[in-house]
Amino acid sequence: MKVEQVLDNLKRRFPNEVEYHQAVTEVLESIEEVYNAHPEFEKQNLIERICIPDRIFSFRITWVDDKGNVQTNMGYRVQHNNAIGPYKGGLRFHASVNLSILKFLAFEQTFKNSLTTLPMGGGKGGSDFNPKGKSNAEIMRFCQAFMIELWRHIGPETDVPAGDIGVGGREVGYMYGMYKKLARENTGTLTGKSIEFGGSLIRPEATGYGNIYFLMNMLKRKGITDLKGQVVAISGSGNVATYTAEKVLELGGKVITLSDSNGYIYDADGIDAEKLKYVFELKNVYRGRIKEYADKYGCKYVEGGRPWAEKCTIALPSATQNELNGDDAAALVKNGCMAVSEGANMPSTPEAIEVFLKNKILYAPGKAANAGGVSVSGLEMTQNSIKLSWSKEEVDQKLKDIMAAIHESCVKYGTEADGYVNYVKGANIAGFMKVAKAMMAQGVI
Ligand code: GLU
Repeated sequence: MKVEQVLDNLKRRFPNEVEYHQAVTEVLESIEEVYNAHPEFEKQNLIERICIPDRIFSFRITWVDDKGNVQTNMGYRVQHNNAIGPYKGGLRFHASVNLSILKFLAFEQTFKNSLTTLPMGGGKGGSDFNPKGKSNAEIMRFCQAFMIELWRHIGPETDVPAGDIGVGGREVGYMYGMYKKLARENTGTLTGKSIEFGGSLIRPEATGYGNIYFLMNMLKRKGITDLKGQVVAISGSGNVATYTAEKVLELGGKVITLSDSNGYIYDADGIDAEKLKYVFELKNVYRGRIKEYADKYGCKYVEGGRPWAEKCTIALPSATQNELNGDDAAALVKNGCMAVSEGANMPSTPEAIEVFLKNKILYAPGKAANAGGVSVSGLEMTQNSIKLSWSKEEVDQKLKDIMAAIHESCVKYGTEADGYVNYVKGANIAGFMKVAKAMMAQGVI
């Protein structure tokens, strides 16, 4: 294959899908050499078959708001690839959601899930529904209306959705309730459920903890075994960011920033455990904005800004795609940042990635570093199918082992001649090879 040709073709057939093009470009550029060393892949046109989703469902969702107005939103499920297991991936509810974003996420998910060592294919879905400012009753009615359409396309051995931005335990609960009623079975199907009806311990923490476990694997190769003395900038303030911060504190690091789509806070004294508890409540109980942290603790708040110009030694982008650009990356490197590990999906732009790799800092792409979330989702599926619940310690240990295994795969496929580990290349090749081999074995379908 010639990367440019494949990309031109995809861009022509699927115009205006910029995020999808971006995610595909990154993977194709890093697997080109390995792919071309396997002429049998090209014979089966594996590259197009792996880039284009198996199928996409799109539907209108109709629901009634608290004032009695009838509202419509778009809903989607992208079933990208099921060569190694049932389609698996989250649902995103955010005003920005469109097909390009969901196609990039489903594509990334396929490689990420392949890396986890568990048998999961890749998918993603969601809606352009904006949960901000909606009442609990509106959220419930929307989730139910969404599931009235989606339920027929999913199942415990077919496609297993979960949470993502705008979809947490509350939303999964409402969707699972409606799914159960329509499908007339109670076998799990969604992951990220509450513990009382089949959820897994450690699932809420898994993406954030997993990112830190991955980071510690990277740091260990440099002889660093804890986070004492490290100054850590985190973006986001949702599930991923807050549990990331919790683990950083546990390992002795200092967390100086958090953010949301309106701006970021910078706390020079550090966001300690007590302040973090406040953030949990602010976000999960009051569903407030991060600015309220600055009001309460009297620290700096930057409206509309991103935290990357603040001096730190470790940066953990945990908000959303393309939240860290080339200039941000240059500022981080200039300020002495030595490691970037991504809790979000594709938070760094291609220009930012180039800066990290050129400066040879430790850089872990989301599909490796944030795979802990979907990994524990995979463990939730296992617990559901054997109808047992594992202890916190058991799940946490399995998560640690999985993150170590992902790290090892990246080192195996990403180590360059001078010893520098290109984790982007490593993750892409390792993720791709497993899916490719499975597809080859299963014939042209
Ligand atoms: N949305 C998460 C991700 O990007 C989790 C998906 C899942 O648990 O299935 O990996």
